[in-house]
Amino acid sequence: MATLFISDLHLCPSRPQTGRLFLDFLAGPARQADGLYILGDLFEYWAGDDDRDDPFNAGICSALRALSEAGIPLFFMAGNRDFLVGEDFARAAGLKLLPDPSVIATGGATTLLMHGDTLCTDDDAYQAFRAEVRAPEWRQAFLSLPLSRRKQRIEALRRESEAEKRVKPLDIMDVNPGAVLRALTFHRCPRLIHGHTHRPARHRLIADGVPSERWVLPDWDATGGYLSCDAAGCSLLDWPTR
Ligand code: MN
Repeated sequence: MATLFISDLHLCPSRPQTGRLFLDFLAGPARQADGLYILGDLFEYWAGDDDRDDPFNAGICSALRALSEAGIPLFFMAGNRDFLVGEDFARAAGLKLLPDPSVIATGGATTLLMHGDTLCTDDDAYQAFRAEVRAPEWRQAFLSLPLSRRKQRIEALRRESEAEKRVKPLDIMDVNPGAVLRALTFHRCPRLIHGHTHRPARHRLIADGVPSERWVLPDWDATGGYLSCDAAGCSLLDWPTR
Protein backbone atom coordinates (compact mmCIF):
# COMPACT_ATOMS: atom_id res chain seq x y z
CA MET A 1 0.00 0.00 0.00
CA ALA A 2 1.24 3.48 -0.88
CA THR A 3 0.52 6.93 0.50
CA LEU A 4 -0.18 9.53 -2.19
CA PHE A 5 0.63 13.25 -2.22
CA ILE A 6 -0.74 15.93 -4.54
CA SER A 7 -0.79 19.74 -4.67
CA ASP A 8 -1.24 22.71 -6.98
CA LEU A 9 -4.26 21.47 -8.91
CA HIS A 10 -5.66 25.01 -9.04
CA LEU A 11 -9.16 23.68 -9.61
CA CYS A 12 -11.68 26.19 -10.93
CA PRO A 13 -14.84 26.11 -13.05
CA SER A 14 -13.02 27.71 -16.01
CA ARG A 15 -10.71 24.67 -16.30
CA PRO A 16 -13.20 21.79 -16.32
CA GLN A 17 -10.67 19.33 -17.85
CA THR A 18 -8.46 19.55 -14.71
CA GLY A 19 -11.56 18.97 -12.59
CA ARG A 20 -12.36 15.82 -14.57
CA LEU A 21 -8.73 14.63 -14.31
CA PHE A 22 -8.97 15.02 -10.53
CA LEU A 23 -12.30 13.16 -10.30
CA ASP A 24 -10.72 10.30 -12.31
CA PHE A 25 -7.75 10.33 -9.93
CA LEU A 26 -10.05 10.12 -6.89
CA ALA A 27 -11.94 7.21 -8.48
CA GLY A 28 -8.66 5.57 -9.67
CA PRO A 29 -5.25 5.53 -7.94
CA ALA A 30 -6.54 7.23 -4.79
CA ARG A 31 -8.88 4.25 -4.12
CA GLN A 32 -5.88 1.90 -3.87
CA ALA A 33 -3.96 4.19 -1.48
CA ASP A 34 -3.62 3.93 2.28
CA GLY A 35 -3.97 7.71 2.50
CA LEU A 36 -4.16 10.84 0.34
CA TYR A 37 -2.47 14.09 1.34
CA ILE A 38 -3.45 17.29 -0.47
CA LEU A 39 -0.64 19.78 0.19
CA GLY A 40 -2.32 23.02 -0.82
CA ASP A 41 -3.63 24.96 -3.80
CA LEU A 42 -6.24 22.33 -4.51
CA PHE A 43 -8.38 25.28 -5.59
CA GLU A 44 -7.35 28.25 -7.72
CA TYR A 45 -8.83 30.27 -4.91
CA TRP A 46 -11.19 29.70 -1.99
CA ALA A 47 -13.38 32.60 -0.91
CA GLY A 48 -14.76 30.88 2.18
CA ASP A 49 -16.59 27.67 3.11
CA ASP A 50 -19.94 29.25 2.20
CA ASP A 51 -18.80 28.98 -1.46
CA ARG A 52 -19.25 25.20 -1.13
CA ASP A 53 -22.69 25.51 -2.73
CA ASP A 54 -21.17 26.56 -6.05
CA PRO A 55 -21.90 23.56 -8.36
CA PHE A 56 -18.23 23.05 -9.29
CA ASN A 57 -17.07 23.20 -5.66
CA ALA A 58 -19.95 20.96 -4.57
CA GLY A 59 -18.88 18.32 -7.12
CA ILE A 60 -15.28 18.32 -5.85
CA CYS A 61 -16.47 18.23 -2.25
CA SER A 62 -18.73 15.22 -2.76
CA ALA A 63 -16.04 13.31 -4.71
CA LEU A 64 -13.63 13.85 -1.80
CA ARG A 65 -16.28 12.70 0.62
CA ALA A 66 -16.91 9.54 -1.42
CA LEU A 67 -13.19 8.69 -1.15
CA SER A 68 -13.13 9.22 2.59
CA GLU A 69 -16.33 7.18 3.00
CA ALA A 70 -14.62 4.38 1.05
CA GLY A 71 -12.16 4.27 3.98
CA ILE A 72 -9.22 6.21 2.52
CA PRO A 73 -7.86 8.69 5.10
CA LEU A 74 -7.83 12.15 3.52
CA PHE A 75 -5.70 15.12 4.66
CA PHE A 76 -5.60 18.73 3.55
CA MET A 77 -2.91 21.35 4.15
CA ALA A 78 -3.79 24.83 2.91
CA GLY A 79 -1.83 26.55 0.17
CA ASN A 80 -1.48 30.25 -0.51
CA ARG A 81 -4.61 30.18 -2.69
CA ASP A 82 -6.96 28.13 -0.54
CA PHE A 83 -5.88 29.09 2.98
CA LEU A 84 -9.48 30.09 3.72
CA VAL A 85 -10.61 26.45 3.60
CA GLY A 86 -12.05 25.82 7.05
CA GLU A 87 -13.68 23.23 9.28
CA ASP A 88 -17.05 23.40 7.48
CA PHE A 89 -15.48 22.34 4.20
CA ALA A 90 -13.33 19.75 5.98
CA ARG A 91 -16.41 18.17 7.56
CA ALA A 92 -18.36 18.19 4.29
CA ALA A 93 -15.46 16.69 2.32
CA GLY A 94 -14.55 14.14 5.01
CA LEU A 95 -10.97 15.37 5.34
CA LYS A 96 -8.71 16.30 8.19
CA LEU A 97 -7.04 19.72 8.16
CA LEU A 98 -3.27 19.67 8.74
CA PRO A 99 -1.17 22.62 9.92
CA ASP A 100 1.76 23.77 7.78
CA PRO A 101 4.30 22.32 8.56
CA SER A 102 3.31 18.82 9.70
CA VAL A 103 5.43 15.76 10.42
CA ILE A 104 4.14 12.29 9.55
CA ALA A 105 5.60 8.80 9.36
CA THR A 106 5.29 7.33 5.91
CA GLY A 107 7.02 4.40 4.25
CA GLY A 108 9.39 4.02 7.16
CA ALA A 109 10.69 7.63 7.05
CA THR A 110 9.79 10.60 9.18
CA THR A 111 8.50 13.06 6.62
CA LEU A 112 8.03 16.81 6.80
CA LEU A 113 5.06 18.14 4.83
CA MET A 114 4.72 21.76 3.75
CA HIS A 115 2.89 23.65 1.04
CA GLY A 116 6.23 25.24 0.16
CA ASP A 117 5.53 28.98 0.15
CA THR A 118 7.15 29.50 3.57
CA LEU A 119 10.42 28.20 2.07
CA CYS A 120 10.47 31.01 -0.53
CA THR A 121 12.13 33.38 1.93
CA ASP A 122 13.84 35.49 -0.77
CA ASP A 123 10.46 36.90 -1.78
CA ASP A 124 10.09 39.55 0.93
CA ALA A 125 6.98 41.14 -0.59
CA TYR A 126 5.17 37.80 -0.68
CA GLN A 127 6.21 36.87 2.89
CA ALA A 128 4.89 40.23 4.15
CA PHE A 129 1.59 39.65 2.32
CA ARG A 130 1.39 36.11 3.72
CA ALA A 131 1.92 37.30 7.30
CA GLU A 132 -0.86 39.88 6.85
CA VAL A 133 -3.53 37.56 5.42
CA ARG A 134 -2.75 34.64 7.76
CA ALA A 135 -3.39 36.74 10.86
CA PRO A 136 -6.61 35.60 12.63
CA GLU A 137 -7.95 39.21 12.64
CA TRP A 138 -7.55 39.51 8.85
CA ARG A 139 -9.23 36.16 8.33
CA GLN A 140 -12.15 37.07 10.57
CA ALA A 141 -12.62 40.50 8.97
CA PHE A 142 -12.40 39.12 5.45
CA LEU A 143 -14.79 36.23 6.06
CA SER A 144 -17.34 38.65 7.52
CA LEU A 145 -17.68 40.36 4.09
CA PRO A 146 -20.45 39.15 1.77
CA LEU A 147 -19.30 36.30 -0.52
CA SER A 148 -19.61 38.43 -3.67
CA ARG A 149 -17.38 41.16 -2.18
CA ARG A 150 -14.80 38.57 -1.12
CA LYS A 151 -14.69 37.18 -4.68
CA GLN A 152 -14.19 40.68 -6.13
CA ARG A 153 -11.32 41.34 -3.69
CA ILE A 154 -9.68 38.02 -4.57
CA GLU A 155 -9.98 38.70 -8.31
CA ALA A 156 -8.27 42.07 -7.82
CA LEU A 157 -5.49 40.50 -5.73
CA ARG A 158 -4.94 37.82 -8.36
CA ARG A 159 -4.58 40.41 -11.14
CA GLU A 160 -2.00 42.26 -9.02
CA SER A 161 -0.08 39.09 -8.23
CA GLU A 162 -0.02 38.02 -11.92
CA ALA A 163 1.39 41.41 -12.89
CA GLU A 164 4.04 41.20 -10.13
CA LYS A 165 5.04 37.65 -11.10
CA ARG A 166 5.86 38.81 -14.62
CA VAL A 167 8.57 41.16 -13.34
CA LYS A 168 9.91 39.02 -10.46
CA PRO A 169 13.19 37.15 -11.08
CA LEU A 170 12.42 33.41 -11.35
CA ASP A 171 14.82 32.34 -8.59
CA ILE A 172 13.05 34.56 -6.05
CA MET A 173 9.96 32.39 -6.51
CA ASP A 174 11.88 29.17 -5.77
CA VAL A 175 12.72 27.84 -2.32
CA ASN A 176 15.70 29.22 -0.42
CA PRO A 177 18.27 26.39 0.11
CA GLY A 178 19.04 27.61 3.64
CA ALA A 179 15.35 27.60 4.57
CA VAL A 180 15.09 23.97 3.37
CA LEU A 181 18.09 22.91 5.48
CA ARG A 182 16.75 24.72 8.54
CA ALA A 183 13.32 23.06 8.17
CA LEU A 184 14.77 19.54 7.80
CA THR A 185 17.16 20.02 10.72
CA PHE A 186 14.63 21.69 13.03
CA HIS A 187 12.03 18.95 12.49
CA ARG A 188 14.65 16.15 12.39
CA CYS A 189 13.22 14.73 9.17
CA PRO A 190 15.29 13.08 6.43
CA ARG A 191 12.47 13.70 3.93
CA LEU A 192 10.53 16.81 2.89
CA ILE A 193 7.55 16.83 0.54
CA HIS A 194 6.15 20.14 -0.73
CA GLY A 195 4.51 21.80 -3.72
CA HIS A 196 3.95 25.45 -4.63
CA THR A 197 6.94 26.05 -6.92
CA HIS A 198 5.60 23.89 -9.79
CA ARG A 199 9.11 22.47 -10.27
CA PRO A 200 8.61 18.71 -9.73
CA ALA A 201 11.83 16.95 -8.79
CA ARG A 202 13.71 14.85 -6.29
CA HIS A 203 16.60 16.75 -4.70
CA ARG A 204 19.16 14.93 -2.57
CA LEU A 205 20.96 16.91 0.11
CA ILE A 206 22.83 16.55 3.38
CA ALA A 207 21.08 18.27 6.29
CA ASP A 208 23.20 18.50 9.44
CA GLY A 209 25.14 15.41 8.35
CA VAL A 210 22.02 13.39 7.50
CA PRO A 211 21.44 12.24 3.90
CA SER A 212 18.04 13.73 3.07
CA GLU A 213 15.68 14.22 0.17
CA ARG A 214 13.27 16.93 -0.94
CA TRP A 215 10.40 15.96 -3.20
CA VAL A 216 8.64 18.74 -5.12
CA LEU A 217 5.14 17.90 -6.33
CA PRO A 218 3.96 18.68 -9.86
CA ASP A 219 1.18 21.11 -10.76
CA TRP A 220 -1.85 20.00 -12.75
CA ASP A 221 -1.74 22.76 -15.36
CA ALA A 222 -1.62 20.58 -18.48
CA THR A 223 -1.78 17.06 -17.06
CA GLY A 224 -1.60 15.87 -13.48
CA GLY A 225 0.83 13.98 -11.35
CA TYR A 226 1.40 12.71 -7.83
CA LEU A 227 4.00 11.36 -5.46
CA SER A 228 3.60 7.79 -4.26
CA CYS A 229 5.50 6.66 -1.15
CA ASP A 230 5.79 3.18 0.34
CA ALA A 231 8.38 1.24 2.33
CA ALA A 232 10.68 1.10 -0.71
CA GLY A 233 10.70 4.90 -1.12
CA CYS A 234 8.89 7.54 -3.16
CA SER A 235 8.33 8.07 -6.85
CA LEU A 236 6.77 10.83 -8.94
CA LEU A 237 4.08 9.49 -11.25
CA ASP A 238 2.15 11.04 -14.13
CA TRP A 239 -1.62 11.26 -14.11
CA PRO A 240 -3.12 10.10 -16.37
CA THR A 241 -0.61 7.24 -16.44
CA ARG A 242 1.47 7.40 -19.63
MN1 MN B 1 1.10 27.75 -3.96
